[in-house]
Amino acid sequence: MREIIRLLRIVRPYYWWMLFAAFLGFATIGSGIGLLISSAYILAKAALHPSFQELQLGIAGVRLFGVARGVLRYIERLVSHNTTFKILSRLRVWFYKSVEPLAPARLLQYKSGDLLQRITGDIDTLENLYARVVAPPLTAVMISVLLWVFMGSFSITFSIVLFCFHAAAAAGIPFLTGYLNRGTASQISATQTELQTKTLDCIQGIGDLMLFNRLDEHVKTLHALKSRELKLQRKQALIQRSHESLTGLLMNAAVFALLWVLAPQVSTGAVNGVYTAVIIIAVMASFEAFLPLPDAVQHLEANATAGKRLFEIVDAQPAVTVPESPEPFPESHSIRFQNVSFSYPGTYSAALSNISFTVAEGEKIAIVGPSGAGKSTITSLLLRFWEPLQGSISIGDRNIDRLDPEAIRTNIGLVSQKTYLFGETIRKNLLLAKPDASDGELKDALKSAGLESFAARLDQWAGQHGMNLSGGERQRMAIARVLLQDTPVIILDEATANLDIITGKSVMQQLLKLRGKEQAKTLLVITHRLKDMAQFDRILVLDNGEIREQGSHHDLLKNGGLYASMWSLQHRISPPELINNS
Ligand code: ADP
Ligand code: MG
Repeated sequence: MREIIRLLRIVRPYYWWMLFAAFLGFATIGSGIGLLISSAYILAKAALHPSFQELQLGIAGVRLFGVARGVLRYIERLVSHNTTFKILSRLRVWFYKSVEPLAPARLLQYKSGDLLQRITGDIDTLENLYARVVAPPLTAVMISVLLWVFMGSFSITFSIVLFCFHAAAAAGIPFLTGYLNRGTASQISATQTELQTKTLDCIQGIGDLMLFNRLDEHVKTLHALKSRELKLQRKQALIQRSHESLTGLLMNAAVFALLWVLAPQVSTGAVNGVYTAVIIIAVMASFEAFLPLPDAVQHLEANATAGKRLFEIVDAQPAVTVPESPEPFPESHSIRFQNVSFSYPGTYSAALSNISFTVAEGEKIAIVGPSGAGKSTITSLLLRFWEPLQGSISIGDRNIDRLDPEAIRTNIGLVSQKTYLFGETIRKNLLLAKPDASDGELKDALKSAGLESFAARLDQWAGQHGMNLSGGERQRMAIARVLLQDTPVIILDEATANLDIITGKSVMQQLLKLRGKEQAKTLLVITHRLKDMAQFDRILVLDNGEIREQGSHHDLLKNGGLYASMWSLQHRISPPELINNS
């Protein structure tokens, strides 16, 4: 229920629209009742052979309500759909705005199928918030009040009897069906999420599943999930469809009860016999407003579940705080890490502990170390995907937490280990980095990245997730992108790992030669393979989240520390020969 109240608070600007639409719903059902009452009045009265004059009121009523019902129904549909779409678009914008700051760090914990279900399915469920949850009770209350007043004009007893049956229809049946169906909506939504996740897994991993002969097993799981969903939906439908019969039953009971209290009053002459039909018809017609109520309870549960799942994401704290008024990006692009420590949430060991280093503008630095040493974490902190737990990081002597994260990302280009290519053409994948790039620029970038052959294939489809390209080609696409982006600082995280030695070497030569407008670009190359290390100004050796050594290739070899042993291991040279051979 808390979720529904929170959701309603978000759509506060549309309260008047909701009220207006509910009132139109009331007026529509009210006209229906009016039409039936007037007709009943004419029929009952006509049986007594009155003068035509005496029927005039009833005839006018039939005309008025007959026309009004159609017109009002049309306007009501128009207004309530309009309200629904206004609410939906507000919720979509609200959700997107809340989720954006969470990317990418906080969203890692969700499976992509689950996230998709929340973004599409759960938001779509909220489409019913107004029309199926809020409007029916409002309309039912207005209709009941109208009817109680109408009945009260004959006798207060009638009002009380009708009130009892209305209360049973409004609370009793929804409570009963809600009780029988409790938990079903959330079970359905959980099953649907699982189904989405498994289906996505199956589509994306179909190659591996076939290789390991596990496709049948996977398909069986999907079948089982689907039949569970159908079974739950059948249960829900069975219970839901019993509403109408139950409401019908209550309506008939109300008619009998009213006849029972009405008959003595008619025989004593307290109520004119002509009104018997009018009263009974009005009672029957009033139950129309109660038909959607049990459904409203179901939708209430579904909306609350959807709301809860959305709030779960929205309430997550962003991994980094964005400054209210960011300072302008500094002129200098020197980078400084000062006593930085960091560990990922939910892990016990530190990914980085007490790291300090500086990178001057234009320097070419290599960060090396075994896998898991914390090399990529340095990049994630610098680009503000995460925030350090201790210490500070600054660019041009300005702490990065005072800068706009977007400005950081337009000044520091990254080729990460996980290159994402979209299911688009090669050209579109490149234009992501520079939307207004000319074909000439695209071809230059491809050439520098060692992909000359792609210049003729710009309009070729890259495949879903770029799967039509080889691993090495995808990496070079990523390098071409970062070249197009033309940032003063470039970070390559294992960017040449999948390239053969000759291509890797020539791409790296191109990158080392890169110059910005005024001076050479700063280059940070992260790698666990020690190749061509002499060309870097400085090498940072990282192990277990700590900087073990730093210095030039030759100095480090001479020191005979971790770097020297890594080098000897990778080049199968025994330490004494090392210095001579390097
Ligand atoms: P490297 O790039 O040097 O191979 P990383 O910086 O990626 O290493 O990782 C450093 C440590 O942090 C590793 O032990 C790794 O398992 C852990 N780690 C990396 N990313 C995450 C994450 N998103 N959540 C939890 N632990 C992580
Ligand atoms: Mg890494």
